[in-house]
Amino acid sequence: MKYFLPYWEDWVHADFDPISDTYSKGGFKNSIFAHELLETTPYDGILVSLGMFKLKLKLIKRNGKPSIRGYQNIKKYLRVPENFPVIGDCGAFTYVNEKEPKISVEEAIYHYESLKFDYGISVDHICSETIVVEKEKVKLFSFKEAKESKDKIKLFLSEKELELRRQTSIENAWNFLKLSKGKNFIPVGAVQGYTIETYLDSAKKLIDYGYEYLAIGGLVPRKTEFISELLDRLYKEFDTEKIKIHLLGVLREELLTKMIKYNIYSFDSASYYRKAWLRAAQNYLGVDGKWYASIRVPDCHNIRLRKKILSSGLSFPAIEKMEQKILKGLRDYDKGTLKEVDCLLEEIMNYDKLFFRDDFKEEKYSKLYKELLESRVWKECSCEICSKLGIDVVIFRGSNRNKRRGFHNTLMFYRKFRALLEKQPTKVVY
Ligand SMILES: [Zn+2]
Repeated sequence: MKYFLPYWEDWVHADFDPISDTYSKGGFKNSIFAHELLETTPYDGILVSLGMFKLKLKLIKRNGKPSIRGYQNIKKYLRVPENFPVIGDCGAFTYVNEKEPKISVEEAIYHYESLKFDYGISVDHICSETIVVEKEKVKLFSFKEAKESKDKIKLFLSEKELELRRQTSIENAWNFLKLSKGKNFIPVGAVQGYTIETYLDSAKKLIDYGYEYLAIGGLVPRKTEFISELLDRLYKEFDTEKIKIHLLGVLREELLTKMIKYNIYSFDSASYYRKAWLRAAQNYLGVDGKWYASIRVPDCHNIRLRKKILSSGLSFPAIEKMEQKILKGLRDYDKGTLKEVDCLLEEIMNYDKLFFRDDFKEEKYSKLYKELLESRVWKECSCEICSKLGIDVVIFRGSNRNKRRGFHNTLMFYRKFRALLEKQPTKVVY
Protein backbone atom coordinates (compact mmCIF):
# COMPACT_ATOMS: atom_id res chain seq x y z
CA MET A 1 0.00 0.00 0.00
CA LYS A 2 1.26 3.47 -0.87
CA TYR A 3 0.85 6.65 1.09
CA PHE A 4 0.43 9.89 -0.88
CA LEU A 5 0.72 13.37 0.54
CA PRO A 6 -1.98 15.72 -0.77
CA TYR A 7 0.02 18.77 -1.71
CA TRP A 8 -1.19 22.34 -1.17
CA GLU A 9 1.89 24.51 -1.72
CA ASP A 10 3.46 22.94 1.35
CA TRP A 11 6.99 24.20 1.28
CA VAL A 12 9.01 26.24 3.76
CA HIS A 13 11.81 28.77 3.40
CA ALA A 14 15.12 26.95 2.94
CA ASP A 15 17.27 29.42 4.86
CA PHE A 16 14.88 30.07 7.76
CA ASP A 17 16.82 30.86 10.93
CA PRO A 18 14.74 30.31 14.09
CA ILE A 19 17.06 32.34 16.31
CA SER A 20 16.84 35.55 14.29
CA ASP A 21 13.38 34.53 13.02
CA THR A 22 14.35 35.53 9.49
CA TYR A 23 14.65 34.14 5.98
CA SER A 24 15.71 35.71 2.74
CA LYS A 25 13.22 37.05 0.28
CA GLY A 26 12.69 35.33 -3.03
CA GLY A 27 9.51 33.35 -2.34
CA PHE A 28 9.45 30.02 -4.12
CA LYS A 29 13.10 30.40 -5.17
CA ASN A 30 13.93 30.06 -1.47
CA SER A 31 11.66 27.02 -1.00
CA ILE A 32 12.40 23.59 0.39
CA PHE A 33 10.01 20.61 0.45
CA ALA A 34 9.67 17.89 3.10
CA HIS A 35 11.31 15.41 0.72
CA GLU A 36 14.32 17.71 0.47
CA LEU A 37 14.56 18.57 4.17
CA LEU A 38 14.31 15.00 5.42
CA GLU A 39 16.65 12.19 4.50
CA THR A 40 13.71 9.78 4.26
CA THR A 41 10.93 11.01 1.99
CA PRO A 42 7.93 10.57 4.30
CA TYR A 43 5.49 9.59 1.52
CA ASP A 44 5.46 7.28 -1.50
CA GLY A 45 3.94 9.84 -3.83
CA ILE A 46 2.25 13.22 -4.04
CA LEU A 47 -1.32 14.06 -4.95
CA VAL A 48 -1.74 17.48 -6.52
CA SER A 49 -5.13 19.06 -6.95
CA LEU A 50 -5.89 21.12 -10.02
CA GLY A 51 -8.25 23.02 -7.71
CA MET A 52 -5.21 24.35 -5.88
CA PHE A 53 -3.98 26.02 -9.03
CA LYS A 54 -7.35 27.60 -9.55
CA LEU A 55 -7.53 28.92 -6.00
CA LYS A 56 -3.95 29.55 -5.00
CA LEU A 57 -1.78 29.69 -8.05
CA LYS A 58 -2.49 31.05 -11.43
CA LEU A 59 -1.63 28.62 -14.16
CA ILE A 60 0.07 30.92 -16.55
CA LYS A 61 0.36 29.72 -20.09
CA ARG A 62 3.74 29.80 -21.73
CA ASN A 63 3.90 29.08 -25.42
CA GLY A 64 0.31 27.87 -25.13
CA LYS A 65 1.13 25.38 -22.36
CA PRO A 66 0.25 25.65 -18.65
CA SER A 67 3.13 26.52 -16.40
CA ILE A 68 3.35 26.41 -12.58
CA ARG A 69 5.71 29.01 -11.20
CA GLY A 70 7.61 28.77 -14.46
CA TYR A 71 7.66 24.95 -14.64
CA GLN A 72 5.84 23.01 -17.32
CA ASN A 73 6.47 19.65 -15.70
CA ILE A 74 4.91 18.84 -12.32
CA LYS A 75 7.96 16.81 -11.24
CA LYS A 76 10.35 19.65 -12.03
CA TYR A 77 8.16 21.99 -9.98
CA LEU A 78 8.02 19.54 -7.04
CA ARG A 79 11.69 18.65 -7.49
CA VAL A 80 11.05 14.90 -7.29
CA PRO A 81 12.74 12.18 -9.37
CA GLU A 82 11.16 11.20 -12.68
CA ASN A 83 10.02 7.84 -11.22
CA PHE A 84 8.34 9.40 -8.16
CA PRO A 85 4.55 8.99 -8.57
CA VAL A 86 2.43 12.11 -8.84
CA ILE A 87 -1.37 11.86 -9.05
CA GLY A 88 -3.51 14.74 -10.25
CA ASP A 89 -7.06 15.32 -9.08
CA CYS A 90 -9.66 17.99 -9.69
CA GLY A 91 -10.07 19.00 -6.05
CA ALA A 92 -13.82 18.36 -6.02
CA PHE A 93 -14.08 19.78 -2.48
CA THR A 94 -13.18 23.22 -3.90
CA TYR A 95 -16.44 23.28 -5.89
CA VAL A 96 -18.64 21.12 -3.63
CA ASN A 97 -21.07 24.06 -3.16
CA GLU A 98 -21.58 24.53 -6.91
CA LYS A 99 -24.27 22.96 -9.04
CA GLU A 100 -21.73 21.48 -11.46
CA PRO A 101 -17.99 20.75 -11.34
CA LYS A 102 -15.98 23.87 -12.11
CA ILE A 103 -13.62 22.05 -14.40
CA SER A 104 -14.45 20.28 -17.65
CA VAL A 105 -13.24 16.81 -18.57
CA GLU A 106 -11.25 18.26 -21.49
CA GLU A 107 -9.63 20.86 -19.25
CA ALA A 108 -8.57 18.24 -16.67
CA ILE A 109 -7.08 15.97 -19.34
CA TYR A 110 -5.27 18.88 -20.94
CA HIS A 111 -3.62 19.81 -17.62
CA TYR A 112 -2.71 16.24 -16.59
CA GLU A 113 -1.20 15.65 -20.02
CA SER A 114 0.68 18.92 -20.41
CA LEU A 115 2.05 18.98 -16.87
CA LYS A 116 3.10 15.32 -17.16
CA PHE A 117 1.24 13.74 -14.25
CA ASP A 118 1.63 9.94 -13.88
CA TYR A 119 -2.03 9.51 -12.95
CA GLY A 120 -5.07 11.71 -13.50
CA ILE A 121 -8.36 11.33 -11.60
CA SER A 122 -11.61 11.87 -13.53
CA VAL A 123 -13.78 14.94 -12.90
CA ASP A 124 -16.20 14.15 -10.06
CA HIS A 125 -18.79 15.88 -7.95
CA ILE A 126 -19.02 14.97 -4.25
CA CYS A 127 -22.41 13.67 -3.11
CA SER A 128 -22.23 15.89 -0.07
CA GLU A 129 -25.35 15.75 2.08
CA THR A 130 -25.01 19.42 3.04
CA ILE A 131 -23.73 22.39 1.07
CA VAL A 132 -23.62 26.13 1.74
CA VAL A 133 -24.76 28.50 -1.01
CA GLU A 134 -25.67 32.14 -1.64
CA LYS A 135 -29.39 32.94 -1.39
CA GLU A 136 -29.80 33.47 -5.14
CA LYS A 137 -28.42 29.98 -5.89
CA VAL A 138 -30.89 28.07 -3.68
CA LYS A 139 -33.34 27.58 -6.57
CA LEU A 140 -30.76 25.58 -8.51
CA PHE A 141 -30.87 22.68 -6.04
CA SER A 142 -33.35 20.10 -4.85
CA PHE A 143 -33.16 19.88 -1.06
CA LYS A 144 -34.92 18.48 2.00
CA GLU A 145 -34.23 21.36 4.32
CA ALA A 146 -32.67 24.82 4.27
CA LYS A 147 -31.17 26.69 7.19
CA GLU A 148 -29.96 30.23 7.25
CA SER A 149 -26.29 30.43 8.15
CA LYS A 150 -24.93 33.98 8.40
CA ASP A 151 -25.52 35.55 4.98
CA LYS A 152 -25.65 32.15 3.26
CA ILE A 153 -27.98 29.17 3.23
CA LYS A 154 -27.13 25.67 4.35
CA LEU A 155 -28.92 23.11 2.21
CA PHE A 156 -29.55 19.48 3.07
CA LEU A 157 -29.61 18.00 -0.41
CA SER A 158 -32.35 15.61 -1.50
CA GLU A 159 -31.54 12.12 -2.68
CA LYS A 160 -32.47 13.24 -6.19
CA GLU A 161 -29.75 15.93 -6.08
CA LEU A 162 -27.19 13.49 -4.65
CA GLU A 163 -28.02 11.04 -7.41
CA LEU A 164 -27.55 13.79 -10.01
CA ARG A 165 -24.06 14.39 -8.65
CA ARG A 166 -23.28 10.69 -8.76
CA GLN A 167 -24.51 10.45 -12.37
CA THR A 168 -22.39 13.49 -13.31
CA SER A 169 -19.35 11.74 -11.83
CA ILE A 170 -20.12 8.52 -13.73
CA GLU A 171 -20.70 10.31 -17.06
CA ASN A 172 -17.55 12.36 -16.61
CA ALA A 173 -15.61 9.18 -15.84
CA TRP A 174 -16.86 7.64 -19.08
CA ASN A 175 -15.85 10.69 -21.16
CA PHE A 176 -12.60 11.03 -19.28
CA LEU A 177 -11.58 7.45 -20.04
CA LYS A 178 -12.53 7.82 -23.70
CA LEU A 179 -10.69 11.11 -24.15
CA SER A 180 -7.58 10.11 -22.23
CA LYS A 181 -6.81 7.21 -24.59
CA GLY A 182 -3.28 7.56 -25.93
CA LYS A 183 -2.38 10.27 -23.41
CA ASN A 184 0.76 10.00 -21.30
CA PHE A 185 -0.98 9.54 -17.92
CA ILE A 186 -2.93 6.65 -16.41
CA PRO A 187 -6.63 7.49 -15.96
CA VAL A 188 -8.10 6.91 -12.50
CA GLY A 189 -11.88 6.77 -12.16
CA ALA A 190 -13.40 8.81 -9.33
CA VAL A 191 -16.09 6.86 -7.51
CA GLN A 192 -18.77 8.87 -5.74
CA GLY A 193 -21.80 7.71 -3.79
CA TYR A 194 -24.04 8.49 -0.85
CA THR A 195 -24.74 4.98 0.44
CA ILE A 196 -22.68 1.79 0.39
CA GLU A 197 -24.82 0.50 -2.48
CA THR A 198 -24.44 3.63 -4.61
CA TYR A 199 -20.66 3.59 -4.09
CA LEU A 200 -20.53 -0.06 -5.17
CA ASP A 201 -22.72 0.61 -8.17
CA SER A 202 -20.49 3.52 -9.29
CA ALA A 203 -17.37 1.37 -8.84
CA LYS A 204 -18.92 -1.45 -10.86
CA LYS A 205 -19.84 0.89 -13.72
CA LEU A 206 -16.33 2.36 -13.86
CA ILE A 207 -14.74 -1.10 -13.90
CA ASP A 208 -17.11 -2.11 -16.71
CA TYR A 209 -15.99 0.99 -18.66
CA GLY A 210 -12.44 -0.30 -18.38
CA TYR A 211 -10.89 1.48 -15.41
CA GLU A 212 -8.20 -0.44 -13.55
CA TYR A 213 -7.56 2.19 -10.91
CA LEU A 214 -10.39 3.72 -8.87
CA ALA A 215 -10.28 6.62 -6.41
CA ILE A 216 -13.05 6.57 -3.81
CA GLY A 217 -14.05 10.16 -3.02
CA GLY A 218 -16.36 11.95 -0.61
CA LEU A 219 -15.33 9.82 2.38
CA VAL A 220 -13.89 12.59 4.54
CA PRO A 221 -17.09 13.35 6.53
CA ARG A 222 -18.08 9.66 6.70
CA LYS A 223 -17.96 7.68 9.92
CA THR A 224 -15.23 5.07 10.26
CA GLU A 225 -17.89 2.32 10.40
CA PHE A 226 -19.19 3.42 6.99
CA ILE A 227 -15.71 3.33 5.44
CA SER A 228 -15.00 0.01 7.11
CA GLU A 229 -18.18 -1.53 5.69
CA LEU A 230 -17.45 -0.06 2.26
CA LEU A 231 -13.98 -1.64 2.35
CA ASP A 232 -15.51 -5.02 3.27
CA ARG A 233 -17.91 -4.82 0.35
CA LEU A 234 -15.33 -3.57 -2.15
CA TYR A 235 -13.06 -6.45 -1.20
CA LYS A 236 -15.89 -8.94 -1.42
CA GLU A 237 -17.20 -7.78 -4.78
CA PHE A 238 -14.06 -6.80 -6.69
CA ASP A 239 -10.71 -8.38 -7.30
CA THR A 240 -8.41 -5.94 -5.53
CA GLU A 241 -5.36 -7.68 -6.93
CA LYS A 242 -6.44 -6.55 -10.39
CA ILE A 243 -8.30 -3.34 -9.62
CA LYS A 244 -6.28 -0.75 -7.75
CA ILE A 245 -8.18 1.25 -5.16
CA HIS A 246 -7.21 4.62 -3.74
CA LEU A 247 -8.99 6.25 -0.77
CA LEU A 248 -9.12 10.01 -1.29
CA GLY A 249 -8.20 12.19 1.67
CA VAL A 250 -8.90 9.70 4.45
CA LEU A 251 -6.70 8.16 7.05
CA ARG A 252 -8.43 6.19 9.77
CA GLU A 253 -5.70 4.50 11.70
CA GLU A 254 -7.96 1.78 12.99
CA LEU A 255 -8.59 0.77 9.35
CA LEU A 256 -4.98 0.59 8.17
CA THR A 257 -4.59 -3.10 8.95
CA LYS A 258 -7.81 -3.86 7.12
CA MET A 259 -6.71 -1.74 4.14
CA ILE A 260 -3.46 -3.69 3.92
CA LYS A 261 -5.28 -6.99 4.24
CA TYR A 262 -7.68 -6.01 1.45
CA ASN A 263 -4.89 -4.90 -0.92
CA ILE A 264 -6.01 -1.30 -1.02
CA TYR A 265 -3.41 0.15 -3.36
CA SER A 266 -3.06 3.69 -2.00
CA PHE A 267 -4.50 6.51 0.09
CA ASP A 268 -3.71 10.13 0.79
CA SER A 269 -4.07 12.27 3.88
CA ALA A 270 -2.52 15.41 5.32
CA SER A 271 -3.92 14.90 8.80
CA TYR A 272 -0.59 14.32 10.58
CA TYR A 273 0.90 17.29 8.82
CA ARG A 274 -1.94 19.70 9.56
CA LYS A 275 -2.36 18.68 13.19
CA ALA A 276 0.88 20.60 13.79
CA TRP A 277 -1.15 23.80 13.87
CA LEU A 278 -4.83 22.87 13.66
CA ARG A 279 -5.16 20.93 16.89
CA ALA A 280 -5.12 22.36 20.37
CA ALA A 281 -3.33 19.62 22.26
CA GLN A 282 -1.92 17.41 19.51
CA ASN A 283 0.69 19.34 17.58
CA TYR A 284 3.88 17.31 17.89
CA LEU A 285 4.06 13.55 17.64
CA GLY A 286 6.88 12.30 19.82
CA VAL A 287 9.07 9.34 19.04
CA ASP A 288 7.37 7.77 22.07
CA GLY A 289 4.15 7.69 19.99
CA LYS A 290 2.45 10.33 22.15
CA TRP A 291 1.01 13.63 20.91
CA TYR A 292 2.16 16.82 22.62
CA ALA A 293 0.89 20.40 22.49
CA SER A 294 3.21 23.03 21.04
CA ILE A 295 4.07 26.11 23.03
CA ARG A 296 2.29 29.12 21.61
CA VAL A 297 4.58 32.13 21.47
CA PRO A 298 2.79 34.43 19.00
CA ASP A 299 4.95 36.89 17.11
CA CYS A 300 4.25 40.35 18.55
CA HIS A 301 5.47 41.92 15.29
CA ASN A 302 2.52 40.41 13.46
CA ILE A 303 0.53 43.39 12.19
CA ARG A 304 -2.81 41.62 12.66
CA LEU A 305 -2.08 41.12 16.37
CA ARG A 306 -0.55 44.53 17.02
CA LYS A 307 -3.80 46.35 17.86
CA LYS A 308 -4.89 43.65 20.29
CA ILE A 309 -1.69 43.51 22.28
CA LEU A 310 -1.39 47.25 22.55
CA SER A 311 -4.85 47.41 24.10
CA SER A 312 -3.26 45.72 27.13
CA GLY A 313 -1.79 49.12 28.03
CA LEU A 314 1.81 47.87 27.89
CA SER A 315 4.28 49.58 25.57
CA PHE A 316 5.40 47.73 22.49
CA PRO A 317 9.07 47.55 23.60
CA ALA A 318 7.92 46.01 26.90
CA ILE A 319 5.91 43.38 25.06
CA GLU A 320 8.80 42.67 22.72
CA LYS A 321 11.05 42.19 25.74
CA MET A 322 8.62 39.66 27.25
CA GLU A 323 8.54 37.73 23.99
CA GLN A 324 12.32 37.63 23.61
CA LYS A 325 12.78 36.58 27.24
CA ILE A 326 10.46 33.62 26.70
CA LEU A 327 12.21 32.50 23.50
CA LYS A 328 15.58 32.76 25.21
CA GLY A 329 14.24 30.92 28.26
CA LEU A 330 13.00 28.06 26.11
CA ARG A 331 16.34 27.74 24.33
CA ASP A 332 18.21 27.88 27.65
CA TYR A 333 15.99 25.09 28.90
CA ASP A 334 16.82 23.13 25.75
CA LYS A 335 20.54 23.59 26.39
CA GLY A 336 20.13 22.64 30.02
CA THR A 337 21.25 26.01 31.40
CA LEU A 338 17.75 26.68 32.71
CA LYS A 339 16.44 23.91 34.93
CA GLU A 340 13.22 25.20 36.43
CA VAL A 341 10.17 25.45 34.19
CA ASP A 342 7.55 26.97 36.51
CA CYS A 343 8.79 30.56 36.18
CA LEU A 344 9.10 30.21 32.44
CA LEU A 345 5.59 28.78 32.19
CA GLU A 346 4.22 31.72 34.12
CA GLU A 347 5.91 34.13 31.73
CA ILE A 348 4.48 32.24 28.75
CA MET A 349 0.98 32.45 30.22
CA ASN A 350 1.28 36.14 31.02
CA TYR A 351 2.48 36.83 27.50
CA ASP A 352 -0.32 34.81 25.93
CA LYS A 353 -2.94 36.76 27.88
CA LEU A 354 -1.96 39.85 25.89
CA PHE A 355 -3.44 38.28 22.77
CA PHE A 356 -6.92 37.82 24.29
CA ARG A 357 -7.48 34.53 22.57
CA ASP A 358 -10.91 33.05 23.28
CA ASP A 359 -9.78 29.46 22.88
CA PHE A 360 -6.85 29.80 25.26
CA LYS A 361 -7.47 28.04 28.55
CA GLU A 362 -4.59 28.87 30.83
CA GLU A 363 -4.78 25.92 33.16
CA LYS A 364 -5.09 23.40 30.36
CA TYR A 365 -2.17 24.78 28.38
CA SER A 366 0.05 25.27 31.40
CA LYS A 367 -0.32 21.56 32.16
CA LEU A 368 0.25 20.54 28.54
CA TYR A 369 3.34 22.74 28.18
CA LYS A 370 4.81 21.42 31.41
CA GLU A 371 4.33 17.88 30.22
CA LEU A 372 6.05 18.69 26.93
CA LEU A 373 8.96 20.55 28.51
CA GLU A 374 9.60 17.91 31.14
CA SER A 375 9.51 15.12 28.55
CA ARG A 376 12.21 16.83 26.41
CA VAL A 377 10.77 14.60 23.70
CA TRP A 378 12.00 16.71 20.74
CA LYS A 379 15.55 15.85 21.84
CA GLU A 380 14.81 12.16 21.28
CA CYS A 381 14.07 12.64 17.58
CA SER A 382 17.05 12.42 15.29
CA CYS A 383 15.26 13.62 12.16
CA GLU A 384 16.93 16.47 10.30
CA ILE A 385 14.23 18.93 11.37
CA CYS A 386 14.31 18.26 15.11
CA SER A 387 18.10 18.04 15.14
CA LYS A 388 18.39 21.41 13.43
CA LEU A 389 15.57 23.32 15.12
CA GLY A 390 15.95 21.96 18.65
CA ILE A 391 13.19 23.26 20.91
CA ASP A 392 11.98 25.60 18.14
CA VAL A 393 10.27 22.61 16.51
CA VAL A 394 7.78 22.56 19.40
CA ILE A 395 7.23 26.32 19.40
CA PHE A 396 3.94 27.25 17.77
CA ARG A 397 4.92 30.35 15.85
CA GLY A 398 4.89 31.21 12.15
CA SER A 399 4.59 28.82 9.22
CA ASN A 400 8.29 27.96 8.99
CA ARG A 401 8.24 26.29 12.41
CA ASN A 402 4.67 25.00 12.19
CA LYS A 403 5.03 23.38 8.77
CA ARG A 404 8.40 21.87 9.69
CA ARG A 405 6.73 20.34 12.76
CA GLY A 406 4.06 19.01 10.37
CA PHE A 407 6.78 17.43 8.21
CA HIS A 408 8.24 15.76 11.31
CA ASN A 409 4.76 14.44 12.22
CA THR A 410 4.35 13.08 8.70
CA LEU A 411 7.66 11.27 9.04
CA MET A 412 6.53 9.77 12.35
CA PHE A 413 3.36 8.53 10.65
CA TYR A 414 5.28 7.18 7.68
CA ARG A 415 7.63 5.18 9.91
CA LYS A 416 4.69 3.70 11.77
CA PHE A 417 2.96 2.92 8.47
CA ARG A 418 6.06 1.23 6.99
CA ALA A 419 6.48 -0.86 10.14
CA LEU A 420 2.87 -1.98 9.83
CA LEU A 421 3.43 -2.90 6.17
CA GLU A 422 6.49 -4.93 7.01
CA LYS A 423 4.54 -6.84 9.61
CA GLN A 424 1.76 -7.51 7.17
CA PRO A 425 2.99 -7.34 3.57
CA THR A 426 0.43 -6.68 0.86
CA LYS A 427 -0.10 -9.08 -1.97
CA VAL A 428 -0.09 -6.35 -4.59
CA VAL A 429 3.00 -6.37 -6.78
CA TYR A 430 4.03 -2.82 -7.65
ZN1 LIG B 1 11.82 15.00 14.23
